[in-house]
Formats: sequence, structure tokens, C-alpha cells
Amino acid sequence: MIGIVAVSHSARLGEAALELALQMVRGGGVRVLVAAGAGTDADGAAILGTDALAVAAAIDDLSADCDGVLVLMDLGSAVLSAELALELRMSDVPVRLTPAPFVEGLLAAVVSAAAGGSLEVVAEEASAALSAKSGQLGGPDEPASAAAPALARSDEATRVVTVRNPLGIHARPAALIAEGSAGTDVRLTRLPDGPEAAAASLSRLLMLGARQGDEVQLSATGADAEAALDRLVALFDDGFGEGTDAASPPEEIVQTRSTDSPTTAALVESGTVLSGRGVSAGRVAAQAVLLAAPLDEPDPRMTVDASERESEVSAIEWAAVAVADQLRRRTSNATGEARAILDASRLLASDPELVADATVLVRSKGRTAARAVWEAAVAHEKGLRAMGGRMAERAADIRDVRDRIIAEILDVEMPGVPERDEPFVLVAVDLAPADTAALEGGNCVALVTEQGGPTSHTAIIARSLGIPAVVGAAGATGIAPGAHVLVDGERGTVEVDPSSTRIAEAKAAAIVVPFDGEGVLADGRPIALLANVGGAAEAVTAAASKAEGVGLFRTEFCFLDRVDAPSVDEQVEAYRGVLAAFPGRRVVVRTLDAGSDKPLPFANADAEENPALGVRGLRIARRSPGLLDDQLRALALAADAESALVEVMAPMVATVDEARDFADRARAAGLEKVGVMVETPSAALLASEMLEVVDFVSIGTNDLAQYTLAADRLLGELGDLNDPWQPAVLRLIGQAGAAGRRWNLPVGVCGEAAADPTLAAVLVGLGVTSLSMTPRALGRVAAALAAVTVEQCDAAAEAVLRAATAADARAAASAVLSGD
Ligand code: PEP
Ligand code: MG
Repeated sequence: MIGIVAVSHSARLGEAALELALQMVRGGGVRVLVAAGAGTDADGAAILGTDALAVAAAIDDLSADCDGVLVLMDLGSAVLSAELALELRMSDVPVRLTPAPFVEGLLAAVVSAAAGGSLEVVAEEASAALSAKSGQLGGPDEPASAAAPALARSDEATRVVTVRNPLGIHARPAALIAEGSAGTDVRLTRLPDGPEAAAASLSRLLMLGARQGDEVQLSATGADAEAALDRLVALFDDGFGEGTDAASPPEEIVQTRSTDSPTTAALVESGTVLSGRGVSAGRVAAQAVLLAAPLDEPDPRMTVDASERESEVSAIEWAAVAVADQLRRRTSNATGEARAILDASRLLASDPELVADATVLVRSKGRTAARAVWEAAVAHEKGLRAMGGRMAERAADIRDVRDRIIAEILDVEMPGVPERDEPFVLVAVDLAPADTAALEGGNCVALVTEQGGPTSHTAIIARSLGIPAVVGAAGATGIAPGAHVLVDGERGTVEVDPSSTRIAEAKAAAIVVPFDGEGVLADGRPIALLANVGGAAEAVTAAASKAEGVGLFRTEFCFLDRVDAPSVDEQVEAYRGVLAAFPGRRVVVRTLDAGSDKPLPFANADAEENPALGVRGLRIARRSPGLLDDQLRALALAADAESALVEVMAPMVATVDEARDFADRARAAGLEKVGVMVETPSAALLASEMLEVVDFVSIGTNDLAQYTLAADRLLGELGDLNDPWQPAVLRLIGQAGAAGRRWNLPVGVCGEAAADPTLAAVLVGLGVTSLSMTPRALGRVAAALAAVTVEQCDAAAEAVLRAATAADARAAASAVLSGD
């Protein structure tokens, strides 16, 4: 087996890239270690950098069970650490350092290593990884390796399939193809005369450039050929679990990567609500800024009249000063390695030689200011390259300063991730891994992209930065730069120019108030404040935010990209990751809530007319009881292995029979505390009867509002209906609360309503005993509860139960709670 070491300046980048890569092979059969960061500073903050000793230790660690080790590095200076690590390591396992691109290379290497590739093969796969993207972005030319389809051999089995998923064969489908063909010599050819790729090669598959609607010929020989082709046909037909809806043509998307004048994206009007997929929770409002297009080389044919040359010279000098100033300001806000990089750029911008050389070109040759800076920078870059070693690495800094000065001269946006002193929402077609470093520590407060899915770079970057993100928001690059947008990373919506009240609400919600770890009313009554999480990383963040436990672990989030059901062992591992973050604390685990907005191919791949009303949540157990029983078994095993106090609950329950059946199964699996979610009006109305067969209920106000008001929760347009302040929803919550009081059993709320500080007090008055929310909201809700007594909560509840409209309910509650 070949082991892989990923050397990154940022631990979060390293872990995120690893998470992405391991999803390609479902974590199985590969040994990958991340050697990232350079420790922590005095305040405990991570220092960006690399550490040769850590790289050497990772190599030595892998040498115990690997025949070779491939080392990937993110930025140039990581190379130095990796090279030094070769001197420092103790083992003599063969090691290769690869110049492969960090994320693409890691993905390709992991897939190749999982398929049993030798060190050479794995290294070659990693190095070839960038050619796939270059091939895709390089226009109509086929990549160099393109080959016409081979004629079928007589013993060859063949099939022709259509690429159905919107994004075509990108990394994830490619990894599924590689996995599905394991052990068989399958080849793919894009028809009619596109390139051919071996199914085992991730990079070759990506170079096929196969997009939605393209036909692909699969061919294989050997005993297992038919079975392997059947597996691959099923994957293509299923759209690789990514859906088969029509997508807008990718060409259009690539061309719209522009700052101020998107040429092909239709302008998005004020008031529009774009829908995409929420992949990182949170809600913020800020100005939209588009990822800037690369700067074109200034035209060498343009010349400046002698009379105007001095003003061009001044333009260069002023621009250089302005850039040095900008960098100085940024340097003072930066820390660690980012500070060192900015400082170096600032010195380059103030370098008198660069400016002097450029001004000579203007005066002597009549070059335009922009062209002169470009040429002067090229000469400086060459000089640095000739020096080799560390100096050669500065060439990129020269280009960075060159672009900054030219952008300043031309008064255009600096290419790449924009820099802003104010918070902004970055809108792009998609983000590259390299954009991560630029986002870290900046003022970007949310991401919106036209492409991408739950495991896309954007999603990973956003989750690692802890900012909301919506991906797959078609038409987003048509949002006018500077327009205000409200990004809801849970609902997957992007509101363009929302009302000032909506902006104010979101802004207030974005300020994180610290939580001291205890939810309690002014008179001392405890109200447990818990966190909603979707996996181990979020659980760790929740624990760091001092959540008292987990009130909703959305287990389906662990398996969104899976085509096949996860094994019991895989599930145990995923669940233990969350439980481990809360030793001795309550963790409420929800069984898979597949369907509707969260389809899981292995649970419910059917195209239903009304998915929100279809076979989703607990209803999947009608068809696949084994899936539920396996999950319950895995959970019981995870609970045995950890000390967290595990409770389990079922989503989308409508009848008492369903609740009883679920409770029986959960208890048979060894889980003692069993509950159901109240997400349907039926469950709310029957809450008392439900509590005769289960130990607790937890109200999912997101779905309860959707089903009570009969308004699709994904439609921003119906946002006013999907409002937990709607009196009908409040009355149903009141029914569930009253049932809890009758039986003296817990009634939680784990929908978004729990994060609304005013509503939180009302919910307590309605009989709710715990509130579970995004960890960022804990402090604000705790502060609101600490300011009110049980009596005030009860009075607020009584007041909202008399209200006829959502506005009345809000006003009545605010009046009671503020003591007016
Ligand atoms: C809810 O419906 O309120 C809930 C918490 O579940 P989800 O948002 O995951 O559907
Ligand atoms: Mg729900």
C-alpha cells in the first residue's frame, strides 16, 4: 500500500482537503496523514506554516505499513519543509515529493492508492490531476492525451451511457467510476470521437470532459466485464447520486467569472430570491462582491504621446504608493504567515527599482503605465528565477504586486478573491482550493456559487471557515456587484436587496454572543441549550461553544454523497466522532431523514411528484426496514463505546403506530431513550398519545411550519408563510408542550425557531424544556432567557395563543417580555 502525506500551511485546509479526498473512496483502504500548520501562538490561535519535523514524523508513521510514501504540498514554501523532512526522517521507505496541485493531486492520489497503485502510478496520477482542469477550462481543444475511441474487440463487452448529472464527470463521479470498475479493465470513451480513459485513472476520467447530455462508451474485457459494466451503467443512470435535472451550460458559467460586467449571466433583479443548496449553516446579509477575473496583459502596441508621458509616470508612482498603503493597512490586521507574506509584498510595491524601471519604459519607449509595470515586473521576475532557490519563489509575489499596481492604475478590481475592509458575500461560479488562503482572515462572511454540491470545495471551505454558504445557485453571478444579499445557509436561499428589516435581523443574528454553558431563566429554572450538528467537526465546534449537549444530530449529513448505504462499521465511526465531543452529555441522534431536500440515493432515489409529502424520514423504513435496524444497531454500538448519554429520535412521524414501531425497534437494538420528532401537524395533535409510547418529543419547527402552512420551505417566495410565529404553528407547539407537562416528559425544539431569542422565551412558556440550535446562536438565546422569568414566559405564551397573525404574535410576545 502507498501512504500519502499532505503538507499544508493551514490545518483546516489540510483536514478539509483530506475530508474531500477520503469521501472519494469512502475513507477505506488508504493511509493519509496531514502535516499542517506551525503550532499555535500565545493566544492558542493556529499559526499558518509548515513544520519539517511533523512531515518527517508522518512519513515515519506511514513507513510501518506502507511500501512507499507520496508527499503533496500546498504552497511553495511547504516544499522546503518536505525536503528537509527527507533529511530528518528515521525510516528508509521510498518517498516521492510531487509537484502535483494540492487538492486535485490529493484526490487523484487517494483514489489511485486505494486502487492499489504503485508509488510511481500514484505519483503520476497526482501529477496529471491538474491537466483535467486545464483541459476543461482551456476551451474547445481536447487535452493532449485525447485519443479517438478504439474499435471494439470481439471479446469486448460494451455499453453506451448518457451523462445525466448536471455537473458531468467531475471528481466525485470519477471516483465512483474508479471504484465501481475496481479489478476490471474498463475503458471509457466520450462519443462520438472524444478522448478515452481507463476507469481506474481519476485524472484521465476528468480529462474526458464529459458533461451532462454527452454519450460515453464503456468497454471491458475479461470474466467480470459484464458485471462491472452493469455497475457503471447503474451509476450513470442514477446521475451518480447527484440528480439528473437539466443544468445551464458550463460555458456560460465560465465566461461570467467577471467583476463588473457579467457578459452572459442575466442581471438578477432586486427582490429576486435565488435558490440553491445550503451547505454551511448561518444567515448573514452583506454586499455582494464577485470573484474578479484575471487581468489581461496590457496591449504592447499602445503608445503614449511624449506630452502625456509624465502623467503616465505619475500614475505609476501614485498607484505604487496606494498599493503599499493598502498592504500596510492589511499587514497591521494580519497575523502569522499571512502577515509575513503581506509585508513582503508591501516592500516589493515600494521597491524603487520596479517603479523606476517602469517609469523608464514610459519615458523612453512611450509605454502605457500599465504596460510599463507589466514589462518591468517580467524583467524582475526573470532575475529572481535566475537566482533559483528561495528567491525564485518570490516570482509569484512580483506578479501579485504587478497585478495590484496595474489594477490600481486601470481602476479595476484586483484579480482573485477581492479584498474589502467591510464584510462581503463572495459570489462566484465556483471557488478553487487556492482561494481558501485568500479567504482566511478576510472579511468574507458568506459564499454563494453557481456550481458545486455538498462536497464541493466551496462547501468545504465555507464549513472550515464557519461561514454560511449556498452552492448551485443558478444565475448568482448576475447579481449586481454591491447589491445587498441575504444568504441563508440552511434554507439555501439568496435574497437580493431584501428589506432593511430583514437585513437588520440577519446582521443582528450574525454577531456571536459568547455562551457560558448554562441555559437558565432569571428565576433559576434551567432550560437546556443544545446544539444542532451534522457530523464530528461541527460537534467539536459545538462543544467549544459550550453547548450543553446535542439536541439534533442530523445523521443524514454524514452520508449525503453516498450511493450505497454505509456499513454498520462506517456508521459507528461517524457517530462516535460526534459522541466523543460530548462525554457524559446528552446527544440526541436523529435517524436518517432522507428525502425531499436531502435525498440519499441509497435510501430513496425515486423521483416523486411531491417529495416533501413522500417517502421520507421514518417512512423509508416501510421499504427498507434493514436500513433503519442497521442504523439503530450502529448507534447502540457507538453509544456503548462512548460515554455520551445517547437518545435516538425518528424524523417525519405522523402516527402513533409509527412512533410505537420505532420505539420497539430502537429498544430492541439496545437504545433506552427513544423519542420522535413533531414535524407534522398530526404528530403535534397526537403528542400526548405519542408520549405514551416514547420518552420525549422534539419539535422540528422548520417542517412543522412547512406542513401546517402547506408552504414549501425551500421557496424563498413563501418565506412569510414558513414562519414559526404563525399562530397555527404556535398553537400546535402549545399542544405538544401541554402533552409534555401532562406526562412530565421532555419536549424539545430543534428547528430554527429555537435560535430566535424572543421566540425562545415563548416556547418555554408553551411547555418546551430544551432548545437546540446552531452553536452561534447559543449566547444570544441564553441572554434572552436569563432576562425573563417563568411567569413572563407563561404570559408571553398565553398572549401568542390569542394572536390571529404572525405580526400580532410577535408584537404581543415582545410587549409581555419587555414588561410594556
Ligand atoms: C425541522 O424540520 O425543524 C428540523 C429540525 O429538521 P430538518 O430541518 O433537518 O428537516
Ligand atoms: Mg425536519
